[in-house]
Amino acid sequence: SAVPSDSPTIFDKIINKEIPASVVYEDDKVLAFRDINPQAPTHILIIPKVKDGLTGISKAEEKHCEILGRLLYTAKLVAKREGLETGFRLVINDGPDGCQSVYHLHIHLLGGRQMNWPPG
Ligand code: 5GP
Repeated sequence: SAVPSDSPTIFDKIINKEIPASVVYEDDKVLAFRDINPQAPTHILIIPKVKDGLTGISKAEEKHCEILGRLLYTAKLVAKREGLETGFRLVINDGPDGCQSVYHLHIHLLGGRQMNWPPG
């Protein structure tokens, strides 16, 4: 569904290991796993384990600054681990116009091919 909501999403099931995912990084706060419908040779989603109202980046409050920083830093760690030495792209889709489909904040890490700009 593309309708914004604060209800649990499929990502909670992935966090709780109720459905399988190809996890590439995990710590106490952050989970990173391969996108089920990859748009590049490397396509990984980086998410907070606790949503805390962060259905999307548009809902960020000052209290979220620490987790937001950790998500970005994790993206860098995972990019390095994936060998994306010639570059990569981070994307956060927000809301219907941003083509967000899962309302649990996530950073897309895309790499392994030449990206295009503007993205369209
Ligand atoms: P959005 O469109 O909200 O920015 O991105 C959501 C992403 O989650 C999409 O790229 C979609 O392929 C991915 N996705 C949706 N459901 C699942 C799932 O069950 N497992 C995994 N690994 N990815 C999912």
